[in-house]
Amino acid sequence: MDGQSTAAAITTGATRASEVAARVEGLRKSFRSGDAELTVLNGVNLFVQRGELVAVIGPSGSGKSTLLHLLAALDTPTSGTIYFDGKALNAFSEAERAAYRNRSIGFVWQRHHLLPDFTAAENVAMPLLVNGTPPDEASRSAQRWLHEVGLAERAGHRAGELSGGEQQRVAIARALVTGPQLLLADEPTGDLDEQNAEAVFALIQRLHGLHGLTSVMATHNLALARRCNRVLALEHGTLVARAIAAAPETQSTGNQG
Ligand code: ADP
Ligand code: MG
Repeated sequence: MDGQSTAAAITTGATRASEVAARVEGLRKSFRSGDAELTVLNGVNLFVQRGELVAVIGPSGSGKSTLLHLLAALDTPTSGTIYFDGKALNAFSEAERAAYRNRSIGFVWQRHHLLPDFTAAENVAMPLLVNGTPPDEASRSAQRWLHEVGLAERAGHRAGELSGGEQQRVAIARALVTGPQLLLADEPTGDLDEQNAEAVFALIQRLHGLHGLTSVMATHNLALARRCNRVLALEHGTLVARAIAAAPETQSTGNQG
């Protein structure tokens, strides 16, 4: 199959219309440890339009992962509401939350979380098998997505034998194989050298163009953040719009005051 027909075959059908995919209102999240309570998110408001690639920046510990976990329904907020496709997540039953996590959300972690002893193709097929997709169909979809991320020839390699950059590309294929409506990426290039970080980010951008993805990406890397459609900064528990000036030497929020 040639590249173009492969791309057409797996286009998820998501539109680029300026509809809101996800909306967050007054989101608060506190963690309790012993007697102390740590408020990480303190009134986060956010909307994500279909087709957008939104960057969330902020120093380590500012709550980027906490926010993405809440958006993915991997954790529950202390208060506030997340609307997905106009429906409030906190009104979902456990079964609806599980279906939302498995089908509506694709998640890419900083460390790939692949099963090292399984092949790249088996790792990518896994979310489909969990959803009850017949194995041969799951396998075909996995092969197509490995082709999409440029790793068709690595399909039979054990995940543990792949390089860090390749593992992250497999993780992206695994996140997208179910055709999710929202891709959440938590510092997807954080463990990679500059060249592999660029390759992984360029891949996310290319897949955006091809498949009309909607994504929120947490990152430390300001040079990559400013290439996203919008940049939001987590500051004192709230999200604020941020314009990043071109400054190639300013690569990390860690260097900022
Ligand atoms: P970031 O991803 O921006 O580095 P996190 O969202 O991981 O930040 O963490 C924000 C803060 O919340 C940190 O101080 C972290 O220690 C704390 N935190 C995160 N998860 C938990 C948890 N499950 N229990 C207690 N504290 C947590
Ligand atoms: Mg984090």
